[in-house]
Amino acid sequence: MNINVTAKTVNLTDTRTSALASIIVTATLGAALLFMAGFAQSATLHDTAHDSRHAIGFPCH
Ligand SMILES: [Zn+2]
Repeated sequence: MNINVTAKTVNLTDTRTSALASIIVTATLGAALLFMAGFAQSATLHDTAHDSRHAIGFPCH
């Protein structure tokens, strides 16, 4: 019987790659939300996003 136990190792390259991936995913999601809300055809969706911006104190107009 052969039992192989492999320890999970995290090296610096993996950490940097995952951090960069997190930044890219977050930025993409943020931009997608911003543009989807900004160019939304539905007035309700647009107004909701607009009200949310004011609710969190984000500069709007
Ligand atoms: Zn506004």
